[in-house]
Amino acid sequence: MQKILIVEDEEKIARFVELELKHEGYAVEKAVDGRTGLSLAEKGGYDLILLDIMLPGINGIEILRRIRKESDVPVILLTARDAVMDKVMGLDMGADDYITKPFAIEELLARIRVILRKKQTLQTAQPVLHCLGLTLDASRFKVTYNGIPVELTAKEFSLLQSLMQNKNIVMSRDALLETVWGYEYAGETNVVDVYVRYLRQKIDEKFNTKIITTVRGVGYVIKEE
Ligand code: CA
Repeated sequence: MQKILIVEDEEKIARFVELELKHEGYAVEKAVDGRTGLSLAEKGGYDLILLDIMLPGINGIEILRRIRKESDVPVILLTARDAVMDKVMGLDMGADDYITKPFAIEELLARIRVILRKKQTLQTAQPVLHCLGLTLDASRFKVTYNGIPVELTAKEFSLLQSLMQNKNIVMSRDALLETVWGYEYAGETNVVDVYVRYLRQKIDEKFNTKIITTVRGVGYVIKEE
């Protein structure tokens, strides 16, 4: 059963959406303030999050920013009618969609279906990748080194995935940045270096191996002859 988190302080809306979603066969959890919403979102395990922007405690934009550090879970923002800046900022921060209040529940349900379907296609379309003893299974979010599980955050995972998909091709920092972080990070190429370092700590140092090669002045590559 697909699981949806609602973070919405207007209890009438939250309850109504919850009932409709349950009626459609989704499992639902609900938070009515920012802090609870954030801690549930960080705990993870949701297929989609409905996130109000104006919330007591921590606002929705800040919650989204923190979620996106660790996770690619789909997020639909619930915004007030005239909050154009909120929408723009939300989409820049990596929201998948937004819906303006008051909304017709059928429209919300339709958007949820579209996003979940897209997510499913992405997941089922991804083959398991192998190289240098590493196995990466994107649909199950699993990495192992010679059979031993490696715990990675969402960004570390996507970076490794991108390098493995392009094995033997030197990837520039800009290309990696765009694939893994998206255009809003343009120019911040040191982010890539930081995350390559994390990967090396978690894989190379731990297993005494050398997976990612630095190509000076250009970027990174996973070489497998
Ligand atoms: Ca609100």
